[in-house]
Amino acid sequence: MGGVRPVLAEASLAQRLWRTPLRRGRAPSSPGEVHVIPERCKGCGICIDFCPRDVLAEAGGFNRRGYRFPEARTADLCVECRLCELLCPEFAIYVTAGKAPPSTFREGAHDV
Ligand code: SF4
Ligand code: SF4
Repeated sequence: MGGVRPVLAEASLAQRLWRTPLRRGRAPSSPGEVHVIPERCKGCGICIDFCPRDVLAEAGGFNRRGYRFPEARTADLCVECRLCELLCPEFAIYVTAGKAPPSTFREGAHDV
């Protein structure tokens, strides 16, 4: 019984503090372009497992060392977070800025 009250209090605090971003749905996401260097890859799969957007998957073939390397299967979902680049122990994957999507978003403009 003693544990119920703090949980309820927490939920109500979260509800009171919740704010919807003013530009929600209007700010363009920054797409990334994923580059893989197959010969460096050792096929650990870390980049595939930790990509928050499930962009990466094992490519069909093997590199010269016999490892399966990743490829960007759903490249348009990449948000350029660079987590794959940071986590890769072999420096076999990196991300550059992709083309920005067409958008009517203007920084500083607000609907009132
Ligand atoms: S940059 Fe982020 S979203 Fe893009 S492939 Fe790497 S981990 Fe996934
Ligand atoms: S984290 Fe690096 S070494 Fe591991 S599968 Fe991905 S690209 Fe290959």
